[in-house]
Amino acid sequence: MANDTTLQNIIAHCKEYGFIFQSSEIYDGLSAVYDYGQYGAELKKNIRDHWWKSMTQMHDNIVGIDAAIFMHPTVWKASGHVDNFSDPMIDNKDSKKRYRVDHLIEGYAETLGKEEADALLQNMDALLAAEDFAGLKKLIEDNKIKCGVSGTANWTDVRQFNLMFSTEMGSVADDADKVYLRPETAQGIFVNFLNVQKTGRMKIPFGIAQTGKAFRNEIVARGFIFRMREFEQMEMQFFVRPGTQKEWYEYWKEARMKWHLDLGISPDHYRFHDHVKLAHYADAACDIEYDFPMGFKEVEGIHSRTDFDLKSHQQYSGKKLTYFDTEINQHYIPYVIETSIGLDRAVMLVLSEAYKEEDLSTAEKQDSRVVLKFPPLLAPIKLAVLPLLKKDGLPEIARELMNECRPYFKCFYEEKDTIGKRYRRQDAIGTPFCVTIDHQTKEDQTVTIRYRDSMTQERIPLSAVKDMVMKTIQVY
Ligand code: ATP
Repeated sequence: MANDTTLQNIIAHCKEYGFIFQSSEIYDGLSAVYDYGQYGAELKKNIRDHWWKSMTQMHDNIVGIDAAIFMHPTVWKASGHVDNFSDPMIDNKDSKKRYRVDHLIEGYAETLGKEEADALLQNMDALLAAEDFAGLKKLIEDNKIKCGVSGTANWTDVRQFNLMFSTEMGSVADDADKVYLRPETAQGIFVNFLNVQKTGRMKIPFGIAQTGKAFRNEIVARGFIFRMREFEQMEMQFFVRPGTQKEWYEYWKEARMKWHLDLGISPDHYRFHDHVKLAHYADAACDIEYDFPMGFKEVEGIHSRTDFDLKSHQQYSGKKLTYFDTEINQHYIPYVIETSIGLDRAVMLVLSEAYKEEDLSTAEKQDSRVVLKFPPLLAPIKLAVLPLLKKDGLPEIARELMNECRPYFKCFYEEKDTIGKRYRRQDAIGTPFCVTIDHQTKEDQTVTIRYRDSMTQERIPLSAVKDMVMKTIQVY
């Protein structure tokens, strides 16, 4: 069951087994910033690689780039981030704690019955859409919503707060320029639109994909790696002929949901949420939401961004950003469909889906295990190779198998402890297959393979191990 205990257990498990640590933990941590440990980094890389392959390798008309985090400051003026990338905030005068208004009201709504909550949230959406800050404050006051820290309803006015981090480039003495840490990777794609289109001789429709870090000074950062101040995005901008954006929007909505479901994740855990209040650049937008331990929340956004970005960059840079469409003999600024997924949120999704506490008790004895049932493709370690004993030539056979498999997928070798304990440790990090080398292996060249999910075991030829694992990680 999804609940707060599950989230706390997942966080504790991630720490204990080397997936995710609080940043700078020995200095008491840095709020809403996290480090990935040895298994977390592998898991994250596997998700990133899978996304990258599905976008670039599997589509003739999508190419990938890697733009810098720093960009010319005018980029953020043109994109609207300097003027619009802000959230309405409210401070509690007693605790001095700052809240995002929508989060404060949503948190309160969770304490209400369904009907009351729906009415409140509808009211909030309408006020947010109208940017009616006085109305939002009144809504908070009328509902007597209190600060979780001070317990009072002593609120300031609602104000906008820009989420971009800034720093200086060059020396201070030289009157250095203010630059921003990019709050999204998308703009690196837009400013390179012509470079890629020309050098790649790309024909519309085509896409440019990118993965990379983004930074947002989130005021209320909560939910583990769900909302971080430094995070990673995987974005793809798909450039289309004006007038065709609706059909491409529908196409990418479906294609992205299929990508999620192809990971083997239950369709019941996903839903679409269509935006009522559209961002300044969009003519249609929706989120793919996943049923996280805190409930349904956004993991990916699909936005029909019109020609807003390219048009605006053309205006601010003075450089022509049009495309000549030979099929219709026309110059135009392409329209754009964006798919934007947070890599860290995808990690959290995969962890939430995989994490299982299983009761294995029998009439004779109490037993349980914590297992991460990752799809094999995403598992940090695919195969654990375990010699039953540290002698009699068994480690040598195990090492040989390691050497055979290592170039193709990540393996783990362990000879300490009982086999049962070794299996449980592999369950806890989500290794789908364990192979045990025993004395029979020496006689008939077979091994015991143990399957993580069913915990069943069978004997298979030693020579079949590599191909068996390979089959489970080839999705295309
Ligand atoms: P939210 O409403 O949750 O703040 P958003 O609508 O601002 O998200 P987008 O700007 O559409 O998010 O960014 C695209 C994706 O980037 C999101 O779907 C999410 O997966 C990810 N993302 C955005 N902000 C964060 C963050 N602070 N921490 C981790 N991932 C994030």
